[in-house]
Amino acid sequence: MTQQNEKKPMDMEFELKAALKCSATLEGSVSQADIDELVASCNTNLLKRGAPPGCGAEIVKWNVAEDKIKLKIVSDRFVRAHDALLRLKKEFGKLLGKHRIGIRGIEIEKYKIALDWGEEEGLRVRNLPFVKEIKQEKGSLELLLDVDESALDKRIPDRLIRLLEDKIDAARWKGKSEHWELLFESEKKPYHFDKDPTEEMLKRGWLQHAAGRGQYVYGPQLTKIFRALEKILLDELLTPLGYNEMIFPKFVAWDVWKRSGHAKGIYPEAYYVCTPKTRDPEYWEDVMDYFKVTNEVPLDMIMGKIENVGGMCYAQCPPFWVFLQGKIMPDEILPIYVFDRSGTSYRYESGGLHGIERLDEFHRVEVLWMGTKQQTIEHAKELQKRYRTIFHDILDIEWREAWVTPWFMAQEGKAGLAELREVGTTDYEAVLPYSGKWLEFQNVSVNGNKYPKGFSVKLQSGEELWSGCSGVGLERWAAVFLAQKGLDAENWPEKFSSVVGELPEVFKFL
Ligand code: ATP
Ligand code: ZN
Ligand code: MG
Repeated sequence: MTQQNEKKPMDMEFELKAALKCSATLEGSVSQADIDELVASCNTNLLKRGAPPGCGAEIVKWNVAEDKIKLKIVSDRFVRAHDALLRLKKEFGKLLGKHRIGIRGIEIEKYKIALDWGEEEGLRVRNLPFVKEIKQEKGSLELLLDVDESALDKRIPDRLIRLLEDKIDAARWKGKSEHWELLFESEKKPYHFDKDPTEEMLKRGWLQHAAGRGQYVYGPQLTKIFRALEKILLDELLTPLGYNEMIFPKFVAWDVWKRSGHAKGIYPEAYYVCTPKTRDPEYWEDVMDYFKVTNEVPLDMIMGKIENVGGMCYAQCPPFWVFLQGKIMPDEILPIYVFDRSGTSYRYESGGLHGIERLDEFHRVEVLWMGTKQQTIEHAKELQKRYRTIFHDILDIEWREAWVTPWFMAQEGKAGLAELREVGTTDYEAVLPYSGKWLEFQNVSVNGNKYPKGFSVKLQSGEELWSGCSGVGLERWAAVFLAQKGLDAENWPEKFSSVVGELPEVFKFL
């Protein structure tokens, strides 16, 4: 097995001490000579199988004590010691079977993996799952694993190694700070405003801070602006391109994020959702009583009585794919165009919150298309053309488009693939005159076969199904437009004004 990419494979050494636990004592039935002979033959054949000459695993020590066969296995990366052990379990099973003895299980006494960590001295690894001790010295990383037979069956050691390789890739990837490349820049536009639009809208009462962090109550004026933007998207892009509306769930169960890949890294930004452990009112009586007596909600008590089941919508399209999960579709129904605007998205943005530009709760139209590879790529181009018309002719804003590597590729360290210009993301950014900063207000992504693969969706012909998505953040569209054009309708482009109409004045405060 040779690795084809230019990355040099990590050097690894494995040392495993384990015992095969048998159903009866071996003393008196299986002779030491039989065991020795089997060990010798495994060392030359079984444990070298699949490895280049001179490589593989080896049993370096063994002995039989009552009902246990104790083995010490050392290996390289070609036949990892735990794979060797699983192979040995079968082989020893055959020998013992002749004596009517079975193998009950595997006991792991010690499992040490040493990895070549040469270039990665800057990267510290402090904790890993299923690892009880980590020694990091220049040049190497030594792991003492805490695994049992079921962990071996689940291929935990291999996944740990994969995880470390990913961490190295991610670290290298971070080092190369720029994965941003300008694709298009609009002409300069005159700005009519130099203030932060959220501040101005707060003064005018177009919105109010809501009770939650990064959350607003939008008044009739701003709501009308959002709806106008949505209508423009519908009339200029979704309807003419033949899009159909769907309703995607806004609570996302873990299984969805496992399949979409978000489960790899969403944790610091997720809004978590919990359900009560029981809906029995008696179970909750102490909480209710506490609140009645103190007027405080006892969060600690609640935490013990709920369980997490997933999170709130983060990227909008993942839960759609459950609609197609496990299905086979006839090719002739492609391409398919659908969109969702049925609810809010949530991200814990921590200290990054800023007005309607960066919220914890926001509104987005998700545009989703799928087809063959070629259809999917072609359609992304068609969308980009239509978006340009909207930004140029209707909103009359100054913006730019940049090629960026999407999160799931950056995370997996696949910088190279993006060069193909097939799978990847185009970000749309606009300048905010009040700060001079550029803000991403939407994107167009070609996701390759990532989602169909994750959700096992196939085409009848066997050809690969591809998909793409584009997230139109209504708050971001509004933030960009209002930051450049201001809040006064007389400075708005005619085409936009005619869609919005009069802004309603409903509330007055004393
Ligand atoms: P940023 O880099 O600004 O955090 P992102 O790369 O996290 O953006 P995406 O994951 O590409 O954003 O999300 C798609 C779209 O969703 C964005 O283009 C934007 O319109 C909207 N969006 C994302 N996060 C927020 C937020 N916190 N507040 C408002 N809109 C958001
Ligand atoms: Zn999406
Ligand atoms: Mg973000």
